[in-house]
Amino acid sequence: MLVQNSLSEVLQAREELFSKTKWTDPTSQLQNRVKGEELSRYFLLTDSERIGIEETIRLLVSTTPYYLSLSDPSDPNCPIRRMIVPTADEAVFSLEESPDPLEEERLSPVRGLTHMYPNRVLLFSNHSCSVYCRHCMRGRKVSSSDERMEKSDLESAFDYIKNHPQIEDVVVSGGDPLNLADNRLEWILKELNEIPHVKICRLGTRNPVTLPFRITENICNIIEKYNDDNLSIFCNTQFNHPKECTKEAKEAILRLLKVGVSVGNQAVLLKGINDDEETMLTLHKKLLEMRVRAYYLYDPELIPGSRGFRTPLARGIEIVEYMRGKIGGMGIPHFVNDLPGGGGKITIGANWYLGYFPKTRQHAFRSAVTKKIHFSFEPIGSDKESYYPTISEEEWERMKQT
Ligand code: SF4
Repeated sequence: MLVQNSLSEVLQAREELFSKTKWTDPTSQLQNRVKGEELSRYFLLTDSERIGIEETIRLLVSTTPYYLSLSDPSDPNCPIRRMIVPTADEAVFSLEESPDPLEEERLSPVRGLTHMYPNRVLLFSNHSCSVYCRHCMRGRKVSSSDERMEKSDLESAFDYIKNHPQIEDVVVSGGDPLNLADNRLEWILKELNEIPHVKICRLGTRNPVTLPFRITENICNIIEKYNDDNLSIFCNTQFNHPKECTKEAKEAILRLLKVGVSVGNQAVLLKGINDDEETMLTLHKKLLEMRVRAYYLYDPELIPGSRGFRTPLARGIEIVEYMRGKIGGMGIPHFVNDLPGGGGKITIGANWYLGYFPKTRQHAFRSAVTKKIHFSFEPIGSDKESYYPTISEEEWERMKQT
């Protein structure tokens, strides 16, 4: 039942929770997760959050004490809180939304495996996570025990991969594969390592953000064992806000780096959380300090109840445009849209290239730094001149004046 506590009662409840949790022990963090209506003991909830918690059917509500400790108990606009606590928006579904906008199920030849790109597959290893992020695009599967992947399901997926020699790259995601027991994760990595044509494994995990203590010495030893000449293991995580870049997260990343796993970040653009230029720039500066390279900035998917998180497409373009020139290229994510209907990912960017003027064989560009137009030449004898959008005489003259 939802309770309505005073701020001092909320702070007291937090203190009790934090002190009974063995802070750096991932098992204790998971055992002491705050679920569903229990959230009302740890936040001064707004009416909208109360509705969100009471009417949530899409995805379980749960957070580790660690991630909860990063949130503000009294400010409903706290970015961490927004990713933990559902609001009334989450209970409103629109016709344009779909539980499976990327049609991963249609593209699934065997349970738990999506084969969209010829040489890559997505393996859904498990349905559980340390924190259930309110913006999760895989809410139809995540947190539902009906979606549990049994050993036999994973064996069928491995058989499919073995029988398709074009598959070189396996993304292991879920849920969160680092929420599997160590021996199950080890078995998955061993199986992949033993398939000769699989060269790359990408672990998609949010544990460095939500439960960094899960990056244990044992997990790192397992990853190191299978990260060898047969298989290159990468890790993609999801930091969305500078508040998540803590000392504990940095240490977890360092443990992964020490076993030869490079870590990339796939942020999600979220309204009211990180949809402004300075927040995104600060996030990516902090990530670089943690040795995490920027990878993607996702335009959020059209999943049921997502209206509270979606931003106009232009916001992502503007933000990445702003970042160019203010941080090294390693810190600038590709703004991507994973096309509804199973069209795959495309990158969307600012238009730095303005076109080609055949008469002088010159290309025109807009500089991210000077904001002026700069020119460069196409090689003499190029057979690609028809490839470029042509600049008219009139436009050319105007560009030369600026
Ligand atoms: S950790 Fe990933 S899969 Fe799990 S709820 Fe968050 S976004 Fe979804």
